[in-house]
Amino acid sequence: MRNSYQIAVFPGDGIGPEITAPTVEILQTLADGAADYALHFAEAPAGAGHYRDTGTALPASSLALARASDAILLSAMGLPDVRYPDGTEITPQIDLRMELSLFAGVRPVTLRPGQPGPLTLPPGKTIDFVLIRESTEGLFYTKGRGEVSDTEARETLRITRDTSEKLFRFAFDLAARRKAAGRGKGRVTCVDKANVFRAFVFFRKIFDEEAARHPDLTADHAYVDAMALWMVQRPWDFDVLVTENMFGDILSDLGAGLMGGLGMAPSADIGLDHAVFQPCHGTAPDIAGQGLANPFAMLLSAAMMLDWLGDKHDNAGLRRDGARLRHAVEHVIAEGSALTRDLGGTAGTRAAADAVARALSLP
Ligand code: ATP
Ligand code: MG
Repeated sequence: MRNSYQIAVFPGDGIGPEITAPTVEILQTLADGAADYALHFAEAPAGAGHYRDTGTALPASSLALARASDAILLSAMGLPDVRYPDGTEITPQIDLRMELSLFAGVRPVTLRPGQPGPLTLPPGKTIDFVLIRESTEGLFYTKGRGEVSDTEARETLRITRDTSEKLFRFAFDLAARRKAAGRGKGRVTCVDKANVFRAFVFFRKIFDEEAARHPDLTADHAYVDAMALWMVQRPWDFDVLVTENMFGDILSDLGAGLMGGLGMAPSADIGLDHAVFQPCHGTAPDIAGQGLANPFAMLLSAAMMLDWLGDKHDNAGLRRDGARLRHAVEHVIAEGSALTRDLGGTAGTRAAADAVARALSLP
C-alpha cells in the first residue's frame, strides 16, 4: 500500500513563513516517528511578495506542484501595499480554490476548554459546529472581472446545480460522520437569503433535494442575517452550517471571533481530488516579522490535513497523528503558559510552537 505523501507547502506572505516553518517541523517530527506513513514537503512560491518580485502571483509551476501533490498546506497571502493594477488585493489562494475546484470551505468553530472566548457559556454547553462555505462561485464568481464604469459597478452572484449538489452532499456526509463519531447533533442548516434572492431559492431547493436523501439527519434553513445573530446568542445549538461563498466568508470571521480570534481558526478547502489546508486568518501585516504570530490556527489546519489524508487513504497512522497534533494544541491552550499575545499571553510564535512539539509526547 502506498504510504508516502507529498505535501505542497505555500509559505506565502507576512506572518506566513513564520508560522509555516514550525508547522512543517512538527509534521516532520510526527512523520519521522511513524512507521505507517511518510511525508515529503515541496515548497511552492506564490503570493503578493512573489507578484512584486516577478509579476506573477501564482506561477504555473506552483499550480502544477499543487495539482501533483497529495495535499496542500498554505499559510496566508497578500500584502496591503501590493495590489493588482485594478486596485484589488493579491489573492492567489482564492485562484487556487477556483483552479482546483475546492468547493467546500470547511471551518470548524470550537471553543476548547480553557480557551478564552468572548461568550460566557451556560452550564453544560460547548461550541462545536462546522461552517461550510462554498468556495468557488457565489458572489466571488466574477472576482477580478466585475464590470465597473464611472457611474455603475456590477458583480454577478452565480449558483450552479452541479457545485451545489457536491456542496450539500459534502455537508450531509460530514453531519453523518460527526453523528457516527458521537460528536454532532445530526443537523445540517442551510444559510441563505431565500426571502429576497431567486438564486437562493434555487440554492435552497437543491439543499432540500439532498436533505430528502438523509431522513436520519435533521435539515433546516436560516436566513444569513438571523444566523449572524444566533451564532452569537446560541452557538451551541448548531452542528453543520452550509452557505454561499460571501456569506461564508463573513460568518467564518464571526466564528473565529467566537473561538477567541483568528489565531485559533483552522480551515480546509476541499474538492473531489484536491484539498488546501490553511488558517482562516490573513498575513497580519501589523505583526509580521516580529515572531509574535499565533501558530495554533496553522497547526490545527495541519491536523485537519492529516485527518483528511488519513480518511482518504484509509491510513490509521495519519488519523492517529492528526488527533495527536490537535490534542497537543488543546493541551497547550488549557495549560495556558505558552499563549501568544492575541490570547492574552506573552509567548512568541517559536515558544508556542515548541510547547506544542513537547506536548506531542504526552500520553
Ligand atoms: P485577509 O484579507 O487576508 O483575510 P485580514 O485583513 O482579514 O486578512 P488578518 O491578516 O487576518 O486580516 O489580520 C486581522 C487581525 O488579526 C490583525 O490585527 C492581525 O494581527 C490579527 N491576526 C491574524 N492572524 C493572527 C495570528 N496568527 N496571530 C496573531 N494575530 C493574528
Ligand atoms: Mg479576512
